[in-house]
Amino acid sequence: MKKVAVKLGIDSEDLASCVACGLCLPHCPTYRVTQEESASPRGRIALMRQAETTGLIDQEFVEFMDACVQCRGCETACPAGVPFGSMMETTREALAEQTRYQPLWRRWGYRILGCPKILTLGSKVLAVLQKLNLLPSKLALPKIPLLQGRLVPSGRDVWLFTGCVMDAWMRDTHRAVQRVIEAAGAGVRFPDKQAACCGALHVHAGLGHEARRLAERTMEAFPGQAPILVDSAGCGAQLKEYGRLLDSAAAHEFSQRVLDVHEWLVNHLDALPPAHADAPRIAIQDPCHLRHVQQSHDPVRVVLARYVEPVILDDEGLCCGAGGAYSMLHADTAAAVRERKIGSIERAQVQEVVSANPGCLLHLRAGGVTVRHPLEIVDDLMRKDT
Ligand code: SF4
Ligand code: SF4
Repeated sequence: MKKVAVKLGIDSEDLASCVACGLCLPHCPTYRVTQEESASPRGRIALMRQAETTGLIDQEFVEFMDACVQCRGCETACPAGVPFGSMMETTREALAEQTRYQPLWRRWGYRILGCPKILTLGSKVLAVLQKLNLLPSKLALPKIPLLQGRLVPSGRDVWLFTGCVMDAWMRDTHRAVQRVIEAAGAGVRFPDKQAACCGALHVHAGLGHEARRLAERTMEAFPGQAPILVDSAGCGAQLKEYGRLLDSAAAHEFSQRVLDVHEWLVNHLDALPPAHADAPRIAIQDPCHLRHVQQSHDPVRVVLARYVEPVILDDEGLCCGAGGAYSMLHADTAAAVRERKIGSIERAQVQEVVSANPGCLLHLRAGGVTVRHPLEIVDDLMRKDT
């Protein structure tokens, strides 16, 4: 297999911090489904070390790096504090800059996420094709709305980040979240189209330059000091990492204003309508970017517990296989990871499942799971009581 020269540029102390104990292996979704050492965090770090030592990589190296879901479950499990997420991001950025890792068609695909007009037009075309049954079923796309209507602001207390694909395909979720925030006593403001995409998928793909451009643009769309609430775990994690991504005082200040919407709601729960008598049993699937990156999954439980009987899955903390664009780019592995998650959901014997991330919602729905955003359920039950 042909070798090519690459300089990954990973911090040598970070690389040395892995003591190869293997405690992360059971927490890695790709290791669990493949049982291959090179598809584990420890194996990937060994490959990174080898690449840094020799200055050479091959196609197999690229494939094992690309097959990582970037769930960062390994970071939570690691007793040595290995910063796997940033090591993987550095690796992918080096691959994208120095090799043909990201072909032009994919770069354009990612670029469209930051162009709301093209994204909206593309979504309408998909919606029409879907209505005419002209889309291959293996794409497993959700039902894409043809018309969505505008989001209507109700005040200036908090911002609600709307994003790119979520806003194009799942605007009703934003509306449910807005109603819950308003019931908690705050007026909601929406950003302009500058904030169309947070750049999370670009970071995952190694497109650091584009991610930083989108980050600068997004920051400009949220003037003032009001909190910036986010109802998508992946976007929230990315907005909170702008300080690290841009390394400027303004970016650090911006990140300080960002909260997952449940983090904000836990301090406003008393203002919400009282609970309904019959609390449904609802399983919680934590998005990895809420649990392992933001480490803010507990507020979801607290908010939900006011209205439902939250059920913890027996594989709590494990990824569902969505991983942003991963479920499209690695459909077989993503489906195998999801099958394990579906088994856990079935054992929980619940009425419904919640997950606070659009990618996880779409991926689980494509697997036949009835799943909603936590605040869609709160919105329903809250209105039932008023
Ligand atoms: S990444 Fe952490 S948990 Fe995994 S093998 Fe290395 S030191 Fe152990
Ligand atoms: S980020 Fe997730 S998929 Fe990647 S090595 Fe760590 S646990 Fe495995």
